[in-house]
Amino acid sequence: MSSENAAGAEDRGGDGSADEAVGGGREEHPGHGRGAEGAAREGHVEQPAEGPDGALDDELSADEEPEKTVWDVVVVGAGPAGASAAYAAAVAGRRVLLLEKAELPRYKTCGGGIIGPSRDALPPGFDLPLRERVHAVTFSLNGKLSRTRRSRHMLFGLVNRSDLDHSLVEHAVKAGADVRTGVTVTRVEQHGADVPDRRTVAVVLAGDEAPVLARAVVGADGSASRIGAHVGVKMDQVDLGLEVEIPVPDSVAEDWAGRALVDWGPLPGSYGWVFPKGDTLTVGVISARGEGAATKRYLEDFIGRLGLAGFEPSVSSGHLTRCRSEDSPLSRGRVLVCGDAAGLLEPWTREGISFALRSGRLAGEWAVRIAESHDAVDARRQALNYAFAVKAGLGVEMGIGRRMLNVFSRRPGMLHAALTGFRPAWNVFARFTRGATSLPEVVRTYPVARRALDALDPQ
Ligand SMILES: Cc1cc2nc3c(=O)[nH]c(=O)nc-3n(C[C@H](O)[C@H](O)[C@H](O)COP(=O)(O)OP(=O)(O)OC[C@H]3O[C@@H](n4cnc5c(N)ncnc54)[C@H](O)[C@@H]3O)c2cc1C
Repeated sequence: MSSENAAGAEDRGGDGSADEAVGGGREEHPGHGRGAEGAAREGHVEQPAEGPDGALDDELSADEEPEKTVWDVVVVGAGPAGASAAYAAAVAGRRVLLLEKAELPRYKTCGGGIIGPSRDALPPGFDLPLRERVHAVTFSLNGKLSRTRRSRHMLFGLVNRSDLDHSLVEHAVKAGADVRTGVTVTRVEQHGADVPDRRTVAVVLAGDEAPVLARAVVGADGSASRIGAHVGVKMDQVDLGLEVEIPVPDSVAEDWAGRALVDWGPLPGSYGWVFPKGDTLTVGVISARGEGAATKRYLEDFIGRLGLAGFEPSVSSGHLTRCRSEDSPLSRGRVLVCGDAAGLLEPWTREGISFALRSGRLAGEWAVRIAESHDAVDARRQALNYAFAVKAGLGVEMGIGRRMLNVFSRRPGMLHAALTGFRPAWNVFARFTRGATSLPEVVRTYPVARRALDALDPQ
């Protein structure tokens, strides 16, 4: 039995009669003029408003507790996955609360590379806060054999994550989501004293704050996810990314304008990058966890070789990336996970923004259906539909990405030779970054690519 099945069995049981007394969906956002009467009709119980003298408007006796707001969807974590989930649930007209432990805007260790699939997954009407448009890539093999390839079309864009993530949250708020920052979620409970009925999940916060109640929860709290631990997400690849933000003078910035650099590194499966963002270069490396000292040395050598060692970084940070194992669960009861919290990112490039945006949107959409479910069986059916949608799209991409990483780990020189010396390989790379094709499509439509992958990574 998979963990999802186990969780479903655990959450089943009872006739759901207590659940049905508490009701369902919503047509209008609470902050947008809906009264308590309308809320009660729809089955939600609002916090009674305080009158001017501090007395409660509703007729409660002194020792009577006001009943708590039950949100349709609570999203934990306001990165691209959480903001995308909150937007999707809010535009469906549901009461959505987005909880974030940091104050926004917040820094996130990330190259900020926005490839075509990320652009395509942005919510409608969203203006991407691009710092740079990349038209050329210099490839090198551990600092050697450099060659620059150029394209008339933009290959990919670069953002500062603080700008992107903040704008995405603002977009979700415009769609009707509520946001609370500076609140850390410690765990979720689907049974027990804090959970009033079987249709409700309690989201427990750090400190003395009362738990927040929801019909469905989306865990989007990043690669060290607490919600992922609740769901039982299993990871089979963990990498360490190290990155610095280097402010540079105009003469250096001009040299990098519109051009990124990708260096295939000395450690198996490692690579480094320079992503220019106006007057700052984001320089980083990534490699399998467990080689911390060697990864740090790779970053230092990389920066030194590029002649950037004399500039003082404004930020220096590290972060783990984690990829889910193929049989890892994506839900438990009324709780879904998406983005890094679910281990959804591309295993070869470790590209995760498009995975976060795409899985976040799916999670938001399916969380709405879970919120509407009147019993555990229906909630479970919706959760399995979410898992199916993720596995059918992102899961297939991850499968090819794993195989690419196997090949690249063993033969980085071959990949370098193909990209720098064989124009069709560069054209495929360019189409991939622009979002005109995906890795599964390349393998499906180019027999040469399929045969090469099968020969180098026999299944
Ligand atoms: C060095 C490095 C470079 C990368 N470069 C790229 C790149 O160029 N392009 C790309 O596509 N991907 C890149 N990635 C991957 C990308 O950064 C992630 O995949 C992406 O950020 C995932 O988004 P997310 O919303 O799932 O999680 P996150 O962006 O990590 O957001 C999670 C949010 O949850 C909040 N949170 C965490 N715990 C709690 C809690 N308990 N309660 C409340 N809130 C909580 C956090 O504060 C955070 O705001 C890179 C990763 C690394 C490490």
